[in-house]
Amino acid sequence: MSLVPMGYLLQAAEKDGYAVGAFNYSNMEILQAIVRAAQAENSPVILQASEGAIKYAGLAYIAALAKLAAQHTSIPMALHLDHGTDLELIEQCVQAGFTSIMFDGSHLPLQENAAVTRRLVDFSQRAGFSVEAELGRISGTEDKISVSEKEAFFTDPEEAGFFVRETGVDALAVAVGTAHGLYRGVPELDFPRLEKIKSVVKIPLVLHGSSGVPDDDIREAVRLGVCKVNIDTNIREVFTVTVRKFMEANPGEIDPRKIMGPARDAAAEMIREKIRLFGSSRKA
Ligand SMILES: [Zn+2]
Repeated sequence: MSLVPMGYLLQAAEKDGYAVGAFNYSNMEILQAIVRAAQAENSPVILQASEGAIKYAGLAYIAALAKLAAQHTSIPMALHLDHGTDLELIEQCVQAGFTSIMFDGSHLPLQENAAVTRRLVDFSQRAGFSVEAELGRISGTEDKISVSEKEAFFTDPEEAGFFVRETGVDALAVAVGTAHGLYRGVPELDFPRLEKIKSVVKIPLVLHGSSGVPDDDIREAVRLGVCKVNIDTNIREVFTVTVRKFMEANPGEIDPRKIMGPARDAAAEMIREKIRLFGSSRKA
């Protein structure tokens, strides 16, 4: 089948009480690991690329890989731009076949974030893609975006209510205690805040920086209304650790297929476990 707008996947997830995994890729091996895992679990999936990934691989390659994957499988997949900040690039992504974009205006004043997001939602309704926005600031580093712990702040439920009414976004990323990148300790999620936000906005919520969040906390977040869980750091970690281990055991190996093949397998296995955790197995 072809790529579907992310909103379809998230609405089904919300109705049925599970979350769809959104997994970042910037090369063919990781994309294949995501697709293989989703197929094995018969699960919907969100293929996700950041501005940094697009800069690395090229927009045409990123889009072509996802479209090809969708054509060769029967599971529903969306192609999503993670943390879009550049409106020109957002438009290029839509033209290239992305079925969803995140506009990250979390650094802007509330009114301005809402105004730009509103314009994007108007455009998305004509062009047939979905829009995710962010309120509050999630700490840590996600490719080009870096937010210190001092700059980070949690999503305010009242502001979230205003923002969603003003903009009509399909999904809202919330800051409730997760962070991008590797955690130094175990993150503490603010579940009462999450519950409050959900009671006000009533649209699918998105959890960023979910690598390293304990499984029970992910389950609780999904129960409270998170319908999209972003995973990037876990993939980088398992992929690189597997490559490193292989090279230590086989220092003379020069064939990239032999070096990256086991890393692809390990990433697929980890992603399958995440899909099971999110509850989206057999929901394709
Ligand atoms: Zn993020």
